Amino acid sequence: NAKHEGRGRFAFFTPLMQEAVSRRLQLGSALQRAIDDDEFVLHYQPKVNAVSGAVCGAEALIRWTQRDGKPIPPSIFIPVAEETGRIDPIGSWALQEAVAELARWRTRGVTDTPIAVNISPLQFRRTNVAGFIEAVVSRAAIDPGLLEVELTESGVMSDPATAIEALQRISAQGIAIAIDDFGTGYSSLAYLKRLPIDKLKIDASFVRDIATDPSDGAIVRAIITLAHVLNMTVVAEGVETAAQVEFLMAHACDELQGNYFSEPVSGDAMLELLARGPFILPQTGPRAVPCP
Ligand code: C2E
Ligand code: MG
Ligand code: MG
Ligand code: MG
Repeated sequence: NAKHEGRGRFAFFTPLMQEAVSRRLQLGSALQRAIDDDEFVLHYQPKVNAVSGAVCGAEALIRWTQRDGKPIPPSIFIPVAEETGRIDPIGSWALQEAVAELARWRTRGVTDTPIAVNISPLQFRRTNVAGFIEAVVSRAAIDPGLLEVELTESGVMSDPATAIEALQRISAQGIAIAIDDFGTGYSSLAYLKRLPIDKLKIDASFVRDIATDPSDGAIVRAIITLAHVLNMTVVAEGVETAAQVEFLMAHACDELQGNYFSEPVSGDAMLELLARGPFILPQTGPRAVPCP
């Protein structure tokens, strides 16, 4: 902030800012311990086929409970991990854990449900994620087709020329690539076409009011059309209500994810959920035909 105010001006470091900084520092060192002490777990949220109601995949979402029992949401600690240089070990842990979960699911007879892992743009840019994934997947001898990665739009599009090589190496392994939070960043349509992207995930902020806000409805329809024109699958995030499900079904969205179906749950709870079979989708089909 002070930078933007030009020379010869003072910016005051207020007690409030002081507190925010020391809280981040504390969180940063707690994060280091958390990696060493196994305080992270992955939870899984189902993605539901919008035609059949079948669970067609799961997104792995990291959960952190500190030793005092206090949960800290990823929206708080992932940015701190990124700023304090601790995202690489966390991201690597999440990838390994998701692959280990796939191996566990296989021993329980579940061999057709992919797990998607979120990858921080920082880790993606700084490290050889493609090579790491290759090593982890081959060590666990799982089908790479069961792993997906989610990268945010801004993470990929801030430097698409560099991203392309890593994405191609990931894609060549048979691992699907999804663009997360689509619509909140900016995308080069030229790169969207050229990059090996398999899925667009419509950000929850557009889904929230689809049934009531005509411009959100139009944006979501446009993203669905764009994805299909580019031969991609489209997933709606943050689906909470039957009205949203009906809208998304009526406009041919492929997959639905959100608390309407299930919150993120433990790996074991996810297996139970899979054993229960497809979700029952709201009846949308042929509405009363208007009189001519
Ligand atoms: P995301 O990848 O966009 O994940 C979707 C978020 O929406 C998750 O928040 C999920 O719990 C939440 N969500 C799902 N359904 C609903 C719903 O119906 N209503 C509402 N209000 N929210 C819903 P969560 O788990 O708190 O994660 C937040 C973000 O943290 C993720 O956004 C992702 O960017 C990041 N994150 C989570 N796990 C990891 C990880 O293992 N690695 C990295 N690098 N980032 C992660
Ligand atoms: Mg995600
Ligand atoms: Mg998202
Ligand atoms: Mg997000």
